[in-house]
Amino acid sequence: MAGKTYDIAVLKGDGIGPEVVDETLKVLEALGTPDFNFTDSPCGAGCYLEQGNPLPKESVEACRRADAVLLGAMGLPHVRWPDGTEMRPQIDLRIELDLYAGVRPIYLYAAEHSPLKGLGAGDIDFVILRENVEGLFASMNGGIELRGEVAVDSMVITRSGTERVVRYAFELARRRGRDPMKVTCVDKANVFKSMAFFRRVFDEVGEAYPEIERDYAYVDALSMYLVQRPATYDVMVSENMYGDIISDLAAGLVGGLGMAPSGDIGEDSAVFQPSHGTAPDIAGQELANPLATILSAGLMLRWLGDRHDDPAATQGADRIEAAVRGVIAEAGVGTPDLGGKMSTGELGDEIVQAL
Ligand code: ATP
Repeated sequence: MAGKTYDIAVLKGDGIGPEVVDETLKVLEALGTPDFNFTDSPCGAGCYLEQGNPLPKESVEACRRADAVLLGAMGLPHVRWPDGTEMRPQIDLRIELDLYAGVRPIYLYAAEHSPLKGLGAGDIDFVILRENVEGLFASMNGGIELRGEVAVDSMVITRSGTERVVRYAFELARRRGRDPMKVTCVDKANVFKSMAFFRRVFDEVGEAYPEIERDYAYVDALSMYLVQRPATYDVMVSENMYGDIISDLAAGLVGGLGMAPSGDIGEDSAVFQPSHGTAPDIAGQELANPLATILSAGLMLRWLGDRHDDPAATQGADRIEAAVRGVIAEAGVGTPDLGGKMSTGELGDEIVQAL
């Protein structure tokens, strides 16, 4: 019986986006199965310069129609809206498609990638669940500034928005099946009403998962604990802005943004992309680490495998992760951010070889 074919909308974007996506497409094709139809759609700062819109409606519709979306990175510092803000079409897309769950796995593939001492491969292994469509980002483009004297952005926490992301976190912990299973609520419940409410909803949802330990950390304290004892975390869940910040801190523990994949997941659509931005400082020089994007494609396959009950997709995810693990287990292998000397294309080729 022929295997499944997935329609993948590809949004390469700006800066290093196209470079890391091209390596990822090579890797997906090298898998052999499942099959993919890749369709490129214009987006990003370059698209704004050409068409006057960084996220054309047709590109959003292509994402909606596709089985999944693979995205590079978007935005360039010198391309801005008339009010001076940078364009963030990748955030607009999360809101358009209601991709409420930002899933960011943090895994240490090789001891020398971490600035922390005494940790080996696999010793850091947790997932950050970032609420993706409300929180402090709900104010994006909607904050107010009065007479050059006062500016206000608001933290928006809804019961339904919190319930669904917290439920996702507990379900994920159950799937990971660690011993013990634990979900950490990251908030600032000692100061803000919105955060005390977030924690209350966390507890209410957590009641349905008595086998999973409920843990709590204020976001400031968590920033310290992540450095002191990252091995003690399993799944954590937070509002949008806190999740944004702790994701970058956590990436720094395992080799930087080039090692941090992500999935933005909703009920009907999902977008997979590296946690990093367009890194204009290294674009076009073959210096970008493609692994965050390649691992994001692994997350995409795992999600497709679950959704379509397709073992070929799930095996594809396992194979990509094993290939990455195999290639960079050797000291000094990788792009310059990992202490290696490989170019973007050479590292992509190594992963293809390993498959
Ligand atoms: P954004 O706000 O869009 O997330 P940013 O400007 O905060 O973007 P990035 O574009 O993610 O940040 O890059 C920050 C720095 O991290 C870059 O200057 C680059 O040196 C490094 N970096 C990011 N991604 C990679 C990568 N894939 N490989 C190597 N270095 C990277």
